[in-house]
Amino acid sequence: MRQHIDTIPVWDAFKQDCECPLCELRATNEDNYVHSFTGGSVMEPDVRVEVNMKGFCARHFNLMMVGDRRLGVALMAHTYLKQTMARLGEASQAVQDVPAKAKKSLFGSKKPVAGVDLSDITDSCILCDRLNATMERYIYTTVHLWKKDSSFRSQFKNSKGFCLKHYARLLNAAPEQLNGQELKQFNDMLNDVEMTNLKRVADEIEWFTLKFDHKNADKPWGNSRDALPRTVLKLRGKE
Ligand SMILES: [Zn+2]
Ligand SMILES: [Zn+2]
Repeated sequence: MRQHIDTIPVWDAFKQDCECPLCELRATNEDNYVHSFTGGSVMEPDVRVEVNMKGFCARHFNLMMVGDRRLGVALMAHTYLKQTMARLGEASQAVQDVPAKAKKSLFGSKKPVAGVDLSDITDSCILCDRLNATMERYIYTTVHLWKKDSSFRSQFKNSKGFCLKHYARLLNAAPEQLNGQELKQFNDMLNDVEMTNLKRVADEIEWFTLKFDHKNADKPWGNSRDALPRTVLKLRGKE
């Protein structure tokens, strides 16, 4: 797969002293997208069509509707609502057309039954789509830089690791560009960095809990004062 390679933002993120450089990149890009949809500049016609078709998820509607941006968001919400209402008839017809047998098994079985997927209506978000596509590019670029640039490789090695989600994405994305000994080297380095830093965070959150014991009240916090949000970030990524 050919990918657009934009190495500078990846380098910048890895230079930050943070628990997951890919979460930092995601947050920066999310912020940019939120502003681009509400920034007052005229939206390209094809983007407008896509907004009317997909709308936004709750998180992104909520991030956009602050202060003086509310009118713009309300106009998009109105158009999207009208368009969605027009599509509901089609969706309910599709549900009606599902064979009776499939519907019957809804009762008496707790297993999910193949029905009609309505997630295009209930869960679509143009901003999530853009952001996910951008992050796939940055994941690709991270592996690409690791392969091509030895100074990036040592930056990677000395980083504080990743949240579990981005660790898993890197693990799964690596075979797209690496194989054999090189792939093994990447996996070993990624696992080393991740385990070393998960252990560090585990020690930090443990000391955070021990500080609640009055016997430890006068002992120094070390790096543990903000260990709880950093542990959550490692486990689930940055909101
Ligand atoms: Zn992350
Ligand atoms: Zn979204």
